[in-house]
Amino acid sequence: MNKSELNRSDLDNADTVIVDVDGTLAHFDPTEVHQWVLSEKKAWDPFFEHMKQAPVIEPVRALVQILKSQGQRIVICSGRPDSHREHTLEWLDRHEIPYDGAYLRALGDDEVDDEAVKQQLLAQIRADGFSPWLVLDDRDAVVARWRELGLTCLQCAPGAF
Ligand SMILES: [Mg+2]
Repeated sequence: MNKSELNRSDLDNADTVIVDVDGTLAHFDPTEVHQWVLSEKKAWDPFFEHMKQAPVIEPVRALVQILKSQGQRIVICSGRPDSHREHTLEWLDRHEIPYDGAYLRALGDDEVDDEAVKQQLLAQIRADGFSPWLVLDDRDAVVARWRELGLTCLQCAPGAF
């Protein structure tokens, strides 16, 4: 057992599932978006133009809806930038994905790795009163970081990019 893994009483007090967007809820092909977002210099406008049309990943949406209906709180946590928050919320709403909070990359953090961005966001999520116990994510480096942080992460797609 991972030393930092949550035990039964931790779980009794936990109420939140963290969910990624790209590659987890939204279909995402790393080879298509590579030139915009997978290097240090980000070009967010063409990325969002492209991802506006991204189909929802139905099984993950179904799981999130079930978790919500069972009383879990859903927190969206994405390396997408907070400066373009409305694009992400619009997409989530259009696809009827329930959420209780949405945490996105801070302004000026474009050069920070996704996994470091999410580690910072986890601190904020906890500070805001959420008690996460489970994460749905896809990218290998991010999945590894969630696990290092003691959360169980279900990786829903290949994430070696
Ligand atoms: Mg992802």
